[in-house]
Amino acid sequence: TTFSSLGLITPLLQALDALDYTTPTPVQAQAIPAILAGRDLMAAAQTGTGKTAGFALPLLQRLEAEGARPAGNMVRSVVLVPTRELAEQVHKSFAAYGKHMPLRTLAAYGGVSINPQMMALRKGLDILVATPGRLLDLHQKNAVKFNGLQTLVLDEADRMLDLGFSRELNALLALMPARRQTLLFSATFSDAIRLLAASMLTDPLSIDT
Ligand code: AMP
Repeated sequence: TTFSSLGLITPLLQALDALDYTTPTPVQAQAIPAILAGRDLMAAAQTGTGKTAGFALPLLQRLEAEGARPAGNMVRSVVLVPTRELAEQVHKSFAAYGKHMPLRTLAAYGGVSINPQMMALRKGLDILVATPGRLLDLHQKNAVKFNGLQTLVLDEADRMLDLGFSRELNALLALMPARRQTLLFSATFSDAIRLLAASMLTDPLSIDT
């Protein structure tokens, strides 16, 4: 399998070439075509499996295909992560894979001033990578609108539950449009994760690598 045979477009293939990614990992080979086709996904994937590119590449392609630009305070896709470190890391990955595309992206997390994050959201964003608590704070301040949201990703969902974010996750889900694509990545699948998955995914494809 090659990235080109998975259907990825030239600007992404060029970015992957520059990073010396030659062959898709198993999670990428399964996730990329399913996400491009618009399916919901539930994926068992540890760190180091290439899961980030597994969701970031098709998400970037869907944004590019649609061509629209984000409008005031709207976010086209949200990636929820458990920690600020992961937020920065995932945000960097999006920037690297999307370097040949016009993109507005932001990493937003707690423990730092909220004002620059509110400013960055004013023109809207293509991709917002955020921790659940800070995203709720931004919503309460009317800095983010979910009405144009197309894709929601939960990365390391098990760690988000372990860190006690279940109330925030449920509050955020209630604010988001029901018609959206949702992708859930987790290293482990406990009963709590399965319950969360059942409440938020529609006819998901399950991937276990
Ligand atoms: P992740 O599991 O998403 O944290 O990725 C683990 C590491 O593998 C990161 O440093 C990526 O840059 C790298 N990586 C992801 N996919 C590939 C690939 N197809 N070929 C080579 N390296 C990759």
